[in-house]
Amino acid sequence: MSRDSADAVVVGGGVVGCSIAYHLARRGATVVLVERDTLGSQSTGRCAGGVRRQFSSSANVVMQQLSVELLAGLEAETGVDPEFRHIGYLFVLTSDKQVEDFRRFLLMWHETGVTDARWLEPREVRELAPLIQGDDILGGTFCPSDGIASPHAVTLAYSGAARRLGVKLIEGVEVDGIVQQAGRVQSVRTTAGEISTSAVFNCAGAWARKVGALAGVDIPIEPYPRNIFVTNPMPDVSRRHPMTIDFATSFYFHPEGDGLLFGMGMADEQPSFDTAVDWEVLDAMADVIDRRAPRLGTAGIQTAWAGLYEMTPDHQPILGPVDSVEGFWCACGFSGHGFQQAPAVGYLLAQWFSGEPPQVPLDVFAHRRFATGTVEPENNVV
Ligand SMILES: Cc1cc2nc3c(=O)[nH]c(=O)nc-3n(C[C@H](O)[C@H](O)[C@H](O)COP(=O)(O)OP(=O)(O)OC[C@H]3O[C@@H](n4cnc5c(N)ncnc54)[C@H](O)[C@@H]3O)c2cc1C
Repeated sequence: MSRDSADAVVVGGGVVGCSIAYHLARRGATVVLVERDTLGSQSTGRCAGGVRRQFSSSANVVMQQLSVELLAGLEAETGVDPEFRHIGYLFVLTSDKQVEDFRRFLLMWHETGVTDARWLEPREVRELAPLIQGDDILGGTFCPSDGIASPHAVTLAYSGAARRLGVKLIEGVEVDGIVQQAGRVQSVRTTAGEISTSAVFNCAGAWARKVGALAGVDIPIEPYPRNIFVTNPMPDVSRRHPMTIDFATSFYFHPEGDGLLFGMGMADEQPSFDTAVDWEVLDAMADVIDRRAPRLGTAGIQTAWAGLYEMTPDHQPILGPVDSVEGFWCACGFSGHGFQQAPAVGYLLAQWFSGEPPQVPLDVFAHRRFATGTVEPENNVV
């Protein structure tokens, strides 16, 4: 690569980097995106595709309202169908505390415009999600317009549209330095040469801490491997079975191809960049599956893979410029929700970069919150 220059360099070509690159270019910026591997090959390509508005933090609900709106218009805007299937999202609740919390969230969701979210009695939970069992079910919340979309299609939509707007998308090249002068970004060093720029967007997913370190900025993100398993065909299960989450255990499943995709977080999980499938997780899940969705346990496994969650201490993303280095922007730390947040995040950060106030306030996501202690943690993490 000869010495390039751009208004902004995006580090990382997952769905977040591609969305930001597109939205920046749409507002007239010249952009180079640098991806170490191939576009969408890391967490994005390994995610479950869930899109929901049922968060505990109202800031996330408002942001997700925008994401859902943008997904609805994505095909008209880019020519690529995001394959958003509105099968609905069901949270299954089994403790008094969960019932109290989710009844409160429901009011907030309604106030925030998620008007079709509703409360379900235990009988309604079982009717809606016939695979689910358990006398301990106390109720649930359901939003029929939530669902699943294709991470591959959304990444392709944004990267293709970005390319058509002149964004240079470079694959197989790593960013290994961020050059500053007097506290301002001057250029980005890569394994294929240097790019002059006054703005860098850190969209490096689970590796965002390492990219932050290149600029001397501490970004508190830890990688946590998560496994996904897909069952053999289950033809008698409706392809419109909702995305279902047993909130107490974080066990979730949804239709995928002709089988069911499922996963769960482990209580004792440790940070690691290892993305080999951990088959012991399946053993550890056996009890929960037996108790909550026993039919799933008898279907057999068709395939499995693992990817990385990118966790922050409060399970909220880090968005916007940092205070210590002028021109260093973050869009990372999505804590397992970055696929669905990418459309809104790209739109809002491009708005901010071009000098307009973002239409959704992003203060709660500022990097400085780790210094000031002003946090609004997200609790509905799966
Ligand atoms: C099992 C699993 C299930 C999930 N389910 C959901 C879900 O249902 N819904 C949802 O919204 N989210 C889900 N997520 C989370 C979601 O996948 C991520 O939050 C999202 O993909 C983050 O996108 P990204 O672009 O920030 O990261 P990535 O897709 O990881 O992209 C970051 C990119 O940066 C590149 N990179 C890193 N360092 C450098 C460097 N120095 N130079 C150049 N490139 C670099 C990497 O190669 C990578 O491609 C899930 C994640 C996993 C693992």
